[in-house]
Amino acid sequence: MRCTAMFGMSSRGGPSGDEAQYRENGDEVMLITLGSILDKRKHSVESCYPLSICRSELKAGFPTTRAILEAVVKSLESLYFDGALMPGGERVFFAVCEIRGDWKWQQEWLQLSCNYLCNMICHNCRATKPSYVSAPSKLATEFRHDTPSFLAECCKHGDLFSPLLSLPSFRMQMVRWDGMHVNNLGTDLWVCGSVIKKLLDYDNIFGGLDMDEPDRLLLAYDMFKTWSRTNKVRHSMPKFRPWRLRSKNHPWPELQSKAYNARCVLAWLCDEVVALANSESFRDDQWMPLLASCTFHLAEWHRKTELLGRFLVPDEAMDLQRECDGCLTYYLVLSHMAVAAGVLLFPIRPKLHAFQEIALAQREDLINHRFYQGFKPEDFIGRVSTICGAGNNSNVEYIAIQRFYVGQKSHERLGNDSSSDGA
Ligand SMILES: [Zn+2]
Repeated sequence: MRCTAMFGMSSRGGPSGDEAQYRENGDEVMLITLGSILDKRKHSVESCYPLSICRSELKAGFPTTRAILEAVVKSLESLYFDGALMPGGERVFFAVCEIRGDWKWQQEWLQLSCNYLCNMICHNCRATKPSYVSAPSKLATEFRHDTPSFLAECCKHGDLFSPLLSLPSFRMQMVRWDGMHVNNLGTDLWVCGSVIKKLLDYDNIFGGLDMDEPDRLLLAYDMFKTWSRTNKVRHSMPKFRPWRLRSKNHPWPELQSKAYNARCVLAWLCDEVVALANSESFRDDQWMPLLASCTFHLAEWHRKTELLGRFLVPDEAMDLQRECDGCLTYYLVLSHMAVAAGVLLFPIRPKLHAFQEIALAQREDLINHRFYQGFKPEDFIGRVSTICGAGNNSNVEYIAIQRFYVGQKSHERLGNDSSSDGA
């Protein structure tokens, strides 16, 4: 028997990787995990298995990652060709079918020469920096890579090819976009930051214009809290502060928030701006209908994604693409209006292209991206980095693996089944 849908590469499907800080001084570990993509258990400890932990300070760039991956790929090849004996005596074969991680990580461990830092920003198509986002999306009709051209054009790094590319089941569609990083930690943050910033320009939405900005933001936060209580939305979003609306590394507005909290703030903002756009006071306002449309389509993208199951029918995938296109159409208009007005709102970023790639991937393979996004790996690496912090400098890896498996055993014995993926 050959099972074809067992390992993906990420939290619950095969090797996934990431780096995480485990000490306050900035020390990081690189973690590669394995799991089954069809595993329905919700807790990351039950469904993620660490394959490799390595302190970043011990890494000599990609050659170190490559050496680790060679051993990982050798084991995966063995599972593909030779299989493994199950407790009942049956031999089961496994295949990698997803390679997961955020864009930065995918670029590193696959050595993608087409990435968000380059002029050719995408490993799926030939989009370039000046033209990587257009709405409605033209990705389905633009010239796209197939696996041979992906390997020839997007992974050119001399002899240092990623071992993952030689997996017997490899095809470029296995390289998954991470919706949590693209949407929750990308578009959501820019839309929320820009919309709140724009609403502060109006009198009597978040208090009067005569009030100081910090006080107005606290007023906005009270409105968000009231909304979340009324709608029974649980979150851990801290109070809005001026610094929480600014990007840490760039000059544009960006909500500083965890992924799940950003989705909650977006839902609240959607209710607010849609109500404002429909009110008499903003009948002739140029911005409010566009803010409402952009926010509404993005919130609908999330809502529909969360309601749908793993496998989509073509109409559902098409409907999701319409929400993506709807959001980005108004996003781009708002961005151009901001430039014309001389203000910095709605930044055009490579993740907007990734958003469209996710929508297109769903149309092509009819798999809901929620089932390969990164909430669970993020939760898992958070737990592992806490464990790493308990070791001393010479045995971080050993202690982390040991404690993880001891902790997993006790978790199984207690029969825990808590949901921690925040999705
Ligand atoms: Zn692309």
